[in-house]
Amino acid sequence: TTNDSKESERPGDKLIGGLLTADFDEDSCLSRYHQSLLYRKASPYKPSEYLVSKLRSYEKLHKRCGPGTDAYKKATERLSHDENSDGECKYIVWVAVYGLGNRILTLASVFLYALLTDRIVLVDQSKDISDLFCEPFPGTSWLLPLDFPLMKQIDGYNMGYSRCYGTMLNNNAINSNSTLPHLYLHILHDSRDNDKMFFCQKDQTLINKVPWLIVKANVYFVPSLWLNPTLQTELTKLFPQKETVFHHLARYLFHPTNQVWGLITRYYNAHLSRADERLGIQIRVFSDRGGYYQHVMDQIVACTRRAKLLPEAATQEEPKLNVSKRAIHKAVLVTSLYPEYSDTLKDMFWEKPTSTGEIIEVFQPSGERVQQTDKKLHDQKALAEMYLLSLTDNLVTSARSTFGYVAHSLGGLKPWLLYQPKDSSAPDPPCVRSTSMDPCHLTPPSHGCEAEWGTDSGKVVPFVRHCEDRDNDGLKLF
Ligand code: GDP
Repeated sequence: TTNDSKESERPGDKLIGGLLTADFDEDSCLSRYHQSLLYRKASPYKPSEYLVSKLRSYEKLHKRCGPGTDAYKKATERLSHDENSDGECKYIVWVAVYGLGNRILTLASVFLYALLTDRIVLVDQSKDISDLFCEPFPGTSWLLPLDFPLMKQIDGYNMGYSRCYGTMLNNNAINSNSTLPHLYLHILHDSRDNDKMFFCQKDQTLINKVPWLIVKANVYFVPSLWLNPTLQTELTKLFPQKETVFHHLARYLFHPTNQVWGLITRYYNAHLSRADERLGIQIRVFSDRGGYYQHVMDQIVACTRRAKLLPEAATQEEPKLNVSKRAIHKAVLVTSLYPEYSDTLKDMFWEKPTSTGEIIEVFQPSGERVQQTDKKLHDQKALAEMYLLSLTDNLVTSARSTFGYVAHSLGGLKPWLLYQPKDSSAPDPPCVRSTSMDPCHLTPPSHGCEAEWGTDSGKVVPFVRHCEDRDNDGLKLF
């Protein structure tokens, strides 16, 4: 209706263009409605009407098939007897593996796949997922019940498992009239060509008939779904602006719990809210030892100077005072496992004045030193920091880091990507401005399916190309 469309254009639109359902109680999850509007600028990207209607029908389906329903009971009974079923509901189970950034990207990917194939997504709750996120679907739950029949086995699922799709293909154990009650999908950095056949049209026809899919993934596999012609038709309708997939899905799915929301808002109000401009810098060091490296620091300084995100030091001691103009106050939010990066930046801007007269204030919420995935407060801080980064105006992130991918894409930001250093020296150029805000699919299929077998997968369709932060590798939507 006309009213609705007006509503979705308002900057204070609590349902963000119809992306969210109005069916939740506000207090149980403060981040979901009004509150996040106080912190996030209205996104210039609007969800398509088709996406909105698809989400509403998904919510109905999830309510009908979710935990506690007759349909769920029947489906799990058949699963325990290893019977294939023509039940009304099909499921995909997301298993929590690897770091939080990986988890957020793969859960969004699995949800989109469920949306495209009329499955419902259920989430492994053996880790701390419910300490991090509120329920996204009204009147039901996305948590996989703890008495799920395969619960004890799931941990051990791997490429060696006889019901692993790629392994079955390797063993020629699949034919077109195979009827399987469940399949395990292995979509990780070490997936084999046969595991990646999952994305192909012919394989999808067969996989569609399997009522239970169990997925372990640590890569954002959405870009590869677009290479499948059947899925592509539907995806184009859902996301006419292709690079907005994660941006919309993340704002639909991931609402921090009240506890995490407290971490986010207290930090934002104390350090970021009063600045004229906010810059985020996410520093991820992929090396065995981690820690502080001078070449990484040099690279950050070079990138932020060249991109004019941070000013240089003034050549003379005292800057010309411009009394008539109030100095611009810029807040720099640094996130890293190591506190030394922000300490160095802080010193830089304390010891010398800036050439522009800008006032630069540098903050880093935590410096945990080592990754401690599955420790509740550690993960909550990691989530809070990804979210805080997404609230900045400009963002510099580290190549290949899913932590950074979540932050920029959630915020609808095209980041400056810091190239991964090689041989302990700062790369030149230090960074590249991304032209798309969607995350990169690391370790994707390297070639197309049947007809296109052998074609570089970055050259199959014009809008799925190699990522800027990976040399001829990775796939990304543009
Ligand atoms: P990726 O390894 O960079 O792709 O990102 P992940 O999020 O999957 O895994 C890295 C994990 O290390 C995070 O989830 C955190 O547990 C921790 N970590 C890495 N960088 C930071 C950071 O800047 N801040 C915080 N709080 N934790 C971090």
